Order: sequence, then C-alpha cells, then structure tokens
Amino acid sequence: MISRDSVLAWLTEYRRVLGENKEYLTALDSAIGDADHGINMDRGFGAVMAKLPAVATSDIGTILKTVGMTLVSTVGGAGGPLYGTFFMRAGAALANKTELTAQDLLTALEAGLDGVQQRGKATTGEKTMVDALTPARDAMQAALQNGNDVGEALRAATAAAEAGMKATIPMLATKGRASYLGERSIGHQDPGATSSYLLLKTMTEILGA
Ligand code: ADP
Ligand code: MG
Repeated sequence: MISRDSVLAWLTEYRRVLGENKEYLTALDSAIGDADHGINMDRGFGAVMAKLPAVATSDIGTILKTVGMTLVSTVGGAGGPLYGTFFMRAGAALANKTELTAQDLLTALEAGLDGVQQRGKATTGEKTMVDALTPARDAMQAALQNGNDVGEALRAATAAAEAGMKATIPMLATKGRASYLGERSIGHQDPGATSSYLLLKTMTEILGA
C-alpha cells in the first residue's frame, strides 16, 4: 500500500523537479507559446507547498483536491487550470483514502485525465499534455491487468509518457496557444506534455520504489 506520507513526498519531489526544470519548460514554451509554462508550474507548486502542511493529516483525496484548488487559484492561462482539474478530479476519485493500492493510482490517473479532457476538449494527437497522460494511463492499465506490481506499472506508465512527450515534436498543435502558430508549431516538443512526463517520472521514483 502507498501511504499518505509517500503521496506528500511525491508532491514535494515534483515541486523540486519543476524548480529544476523551470527554465527548460519555459524554453519549450517560448518556442510554441508565451514562455511561461515553467514559471507557471513553479509558482503553482510553490503555492501548493505552502498549503500542504494544513492538510498533511487529512485523507489523500483532500490533499490532492487542495493541490488542484491551489493550482486553479494561483496559476493563470491554460496549464494551471488544466493541472488544477487533473488534481481535483484525482482527489475526488480518492475521497477518504489514507493509503492507496496500485489500482487506486490508476483510478486517480484515469479520473484526472478525464477531467483534463472535459475541460480542455483535447484528444490525442493535438500536441498537449493529453499526449503524455493518455499513453501513461493505457500502459498502467495494461501492466496491472497483466499482474505487474505498482513499481512495474508506474515504470511502464513513465516510459509511455516519455514516448508520448517525444511524439508531440512532429505534431501540429490544434489546441491552446501553440495552435496559433499553425504549421510553425511542428518540430517542437510540447511543454505541457513534458511537465506531465515529469509528473509520472516523480510518481515512479517516489511511489513505485
Ligand atoms: P498557457 O498556454 O496559457 O500559457 P501554460 O504555458 O502554463 O499555459 O501551459 C501550456 C500547456 O498547456 C501546453 O503545452 C499544453 O500541453 C497544455 N494545453 C493547452 N491547451 C490545452 C488543452 N485545450 N487541452 C489540454 N492541454 C492543453
Ligand atoms: Mg504558456
């Protein structure tokens, strides 16, 4: 089982990794957006860190809902509200849980991705975070169905997210700011798909260990 403290450690690690990748994510966004994705994610998760102590003994659903509400209220643009929705939906799917199974993690990932798609109306192939999250969900589902443990399932999900992130490079953006560039969006990796890959990577490192 995955403990609440592990979930808190994962969020803390994701915040650290976002700080480390702030310039990188912003550089990716400067090519096809408005050069703020790293700044947005860093600011949003900075605010999340300030809110976590107050919910550190709450259930995991409440913790993730707090993450989501904080992102929605502190980050403007598209990315913040979309990640906010991801965490609010994941939290709602884990209501009252103080520890998680591998299946719970998959349920949360599914609910989070559904929320992102309802809010942003993007499907795969449009050069967004959906292109990293969808293969991650599918790989995790397949891995668990095949009887793999949580570490194996998360590693498969991260590998799929990484491949999905790289696959955004040749894509034409048809959602979000990058779509304003039309054909000129081709040849650049999507910043949101990159931060979503990092989300899965840190999950694997902390929750799948
Ligand atoms: P903004 O585009 O408002 O500046 P960010 O730079 O923080 O916001 O986030 C940009 C990322 O948001 C994109 O790289 C893309 O992955 C994601 N994104 C934008 N629009 C959508 C959408 N409709 N659905 C899913 N993801 C989206
Ligand atoms: Mg931007």
